Amino acid sequence: MKLNGKFFLVTGGNSGIGLASARALVEAGAKVVIFGRDQQTVEAAVAVLGDNSVGLAGDVSRNEDLDRLFAEVEKSGQKLDGIFVNAGIGALVSIANLSETMFDSIIGINLRGAFFTVQKALPLMKDGGSIVFTSTAGWHQGIPGYSLYGASKAALVGLSNSLAGELAPRRIRVNTVSPGAIETPIIGRLGLPADQSQEIFNSWGSKCMVGRVGNASEVGLLVRFLLSDEASYITGVEIPVDGGYLLGAAA
Ligand code: NAD
Repeated sequence: MKLNGKFFLVTGGNSGIGLASARALVEAGAKVVIFGRDQQTVEAAVAVLGDNSVGLAGDVSRNEDLDRLFAEVEKSGQKLDGIFVNAGIGALVSIANLSETMFDSIIGINLRGAFFTVQKALPLMKDGGSIVFTSTAGWHQGIPGYSLYGASKAALVGLSNSLAGELAPRRIRVNTVSPGAIETPIIGRLGLPADQSQEIFNSWGSKCMVGRVGNASEVGLLVRFLLSDEASYITGVEIPVDGGYLLGAAA
């Protein structure tokens, strides 16, 4: 795949699935701008990605940070060919233990952040471009502890499908990838002790048809394809990358 001359934004491009996707894009010759919450890991990711990458730290749930990001994109003088709307946080917490603060944080990052990322990116995007969201396969599976996280990610599928129709006149395709259990630093960020989360992820991995946890590049290669012109007849769909889950197997 050749993406020379193309320019993409990857939110959450400093870690896990976002970093693997940014790497896949750069390996195909594209330029990327990555945006993530932590300055240090943004810098480390840019060092790994090389000269065809730039990074900016900020919080997708704060519109002033998004404005700063898109001011930089505008300054580059290059329009975006696509965006990977991927920044997100997880929570494996029962409804009884979910506080109002957690509600605002998860909805603020996973839904609000994604919504305003797209709204603010659109004037800087080429017609004929591509948008990819990261949802989760988990929202289909009735997983205990995923009520809020699952709701925030299911909302992205509604957003994605509606935008696919709304942006069709600009020939912008909009799709969603829904990963299953993927080995990334998110495992330590779910509100549980890391070894407990790892055990849960391993058990989900062992229950899918492929029989293991996935790795971030297995999602990144699909993201790269959807962002490229090779996916020119694909829009308005949610694609699972979950090793073939049996419905209910994750619970
Ligand atoms: P990760 O923790 O490695 O990466 C999350 C990324 O989001 C980081 O780069 C982080 O900087 C960024 N981020 C978080 N909050 C942010 C904020 N407020 N502003 C800006 N950036 C922010 O985890 P990951 O597994 O790579 O997760 C990437 C996406 O994939 C998330 O949306 C997650 O919900 C989703 N997902 C992951 C899995 C999995 O098993 N790993 C499964 C399904 C969906």
